[in-house]
Amino acid sequence: MDMEPQVGDHSGQSQRRALLKALLILTAFCGALFYVINIRRGVVVLAYIELGAAIASVLLYVVVRRTPRLRLWTLIYLIPFLNIMMMALYLPGASPTVFLWIYIVPVLCHLLLGPRLGLAVSVFYILVALGLFLHKYPDYLFRSGFAEIANITLSLGVTLAFAYIYERGSDRSRSDLVVMASTDPLTRLPNLYRFREAFIHERSRAERLATPLSVLVLDLDLFKAVNDSYGHRIGDLVLIHVAKQLRQRLRATDLPCRVGGEEFTMLLPDTNRDEAVWVAENLRELIASQPYRTGRLSVPLSCSIGVAEWGVDGQSMDDLVEAADRRLYIAKQQGRNRVISEG
Ligand code: GH3
Ligand code: MG
Ligand code: MG
Repeated sequence: MDMEPQVGDHSGQSQRRALLKALLILTAFCGALFYVINIRRGVVVLAYIELGAAIASVLLYVVVRRTPRLRLWTLIYLIPFLNIMMMALYLPGASPTVFLWIYIVPVLCHLLLGPRLGLAVSVFYILVALGLFLHKYPDYLFRSGFAEIANITLSLGVTLAFAYIYERGSDRSRSDLVVMASTDPLTRLPNLYRFREAFIHERSRAERLATPLSVLVLDLDLFKAVNDSYGHRIGDLVLIHVAKQLRQRLRATDLPCRVGGEEFTMLLPDTNRDEAVWVAENLRELIASQPYRTGRLSVPLSCSIGVAEWGVDGQSMDDLVEAADRRLYIAKQQGRNRVISEG
């Protein structure tokens, strides 16, 4: 099987992974440092807890570097981290200013978990911290003035709101970028990048459920002549017209893509070779029967299609596209406007 590139982190995963890795290094370093300090001071129990935290951080780092379940592992780190923080706030010897550390909670939670889960976890821990504070200093509310309470509430609320708005905004722009990077700008069909991702996903589904999977490669016939006769602008409109036909005729689960020029590739899940040939014949007839029309102009079209089936013609996307391409070439040689599934 040939090498297929791994599908990358999406929706800010790589940024969140980098941040978590940095935090784990920091935690491991601080844990080791405080272990040494506390061992020297003779505070053995605390020292061993810190050593344990340092070792756990190193182990987590190894997992976090590669895991596809980043959110789960982030929670495995973050929840004990926040619980220890809450305990530290409540320790009898701790100064009231230690509570200032709760301002880091919304920032950390949003950056690591994204807007929704980040908001839920931060609100929970902020409420816990405030509860602990009032329990520890029960007369605080009576002693302090309105302005002091307003300051704390408002500054926490503003930090929370900014963290949420920032993360929601960057989540949106990241997903806009993913759409842009995986869409052909002319026809708005998915491009080769998206096709590769979908293939990896559909192939593992086909393996799991023992269902067939087919690929079509469609190329417009004598398209250069369309450009030469009617101009490039009309050529572009023809491509948009063909993309629309593909989208309309295929099932919602099929994936038509524009992979370049006047060539389209289609991924047909749950479809064997015979069914794929039937789909391809349908598309061929549709394109041949509906010329592109604008004003009084009518541009006759036809296409040739090569068909390949996963498992029969190979395992990887490149195997299948290669087989379908070879058959497309045969279709062109045999006079165009036809579907070929063998050879
Ligand atoms: P065949 O039947 O053998 O496929 O002939 P063909 O003319 O379609 O094949 P060829 O590869 O020689 O030409 C493809 C043409 O498609 C060349 C190029 O001008 C045109 N083309 C590629 N991309 C675009 C595009 O984005 N817009 C337009 N208008 N034309 C394009
Ligand atoms: Mg062509
Ligand atoms: Mg071509």
